[in-house]
Amino acid sequence: MPLVDLLGQVQARERLMNMIVRGRVPQSLLFTGPEGVGKNLAAILFAQALSCRESTNGDACGKCPSCIQVSRKIYPDILTIAADNQQIKIEQVSEIQEFISFAPLVGERRIVIIKDAHKLNHTAANALLKTLEEPAPTVLFILLSHRHNLLLATILSRCLRLSFVSLQKSVIVEIIQLQNLAEEYGEVGAHGIAEAAAWSGGSMGRALFFLAEGNLGWCSGFIEKFSRLPQETLLAALDLAEVAAQFEEREVLFFILRSFLHDALLAARGVVAKNPDAAHISALSWAASVALFAPLHEQRILLIRQQLLVVEQAQAINVNLKLAFEAFFTAIVTGTS
Ligand SMILES: [Zn+2]
Repeated sequence: MPLVDLLGQVQARERLMNMIVRGRVPQSLLFTGPEGVGKNLAAILFAQALSCRESTNGDACGKCPSCIQVSRKIYPDILTIAADNQQIKIEQVSEIQEFISFAPLVGERRIVIIKDAHKLNHTAANALLKTLEEPAPTVLFILLSHRHNLLLATILSRCLRLSFVSLQKSVIVEIIQLQNLAEEYGEVGAHGIAEAAAWSGGSMGRALFFLAEGNLGWCSGFIEKFSRLPQETLLAALDLAEVAAQFEEREVLFFILRSFLHDALLAARGVVAKNPDAAHISALSWAASVALFAPLHEQRILLIRQQLLVVEQAQAINVNLKLAFEAFFTAIVTGTS
């Protein structure tokens, strides 16, 4: 797949291709933007275009030995680093330093792709910084991060930043159809694809999660129960906390809760009635649940949103998530939030 086929990221794609055409490739790039919108794919396609022996108009030919090796992930001048158990450690930065200490084997440069760069731990980040401060013309770093504000300011200042945006729903549907992903995830049909795209919030990663059997139903049922909490009993709040804590896809869980409260707030303010596109998620089952929550006072929805942030922070520092959800849901039932 050539870089030109990277969908939904026109600006980033054009900038990357221009760098190649003009022969002005920086030494360190940082791709920022939400999860699952194509940052990793863009890094690979850019690396392929840079390594291609028959490159035209800043893009890869897809057929030369280098292109084939990149697509098979066996190209010797690319190293990809990913977090090991939630952290990128000093050993991995040492691996990078060793990798770039050798001249390129095939192409003009050695390329290091660092996924989730915000997961560099303190020692690793400082070691990487030293490497970035002594750039070699035959090395390119591509850092990827959906939380770049967690990176050292000194690392940020060394990188040229490219922003990736949330994908349009229509783009997600197009990618699913072009790559026959629906088949891979079981025959979901056009309606299933549209629903998965609607719930994805512009992330391909989440769209694929929602395509898989049962996931959309689970999330829709969870949100419905959540939307009824203001009329529910304490027991229902405790039950829902247990269900929430056991759900493994935390990123999706917090995303749907955040989006739900965002949309409920807009509905309470009457914004959604005038402009349905303002909602994060537009799906029938979702709208019905939002309608149950919207009669709450705006201030109360704002307070519930703040308390959700507390639960998210608890999750980040490994506090007992079930207890955090219990406190959050019971406050909604008792009206103390
Ligand atoms: Zn090629």
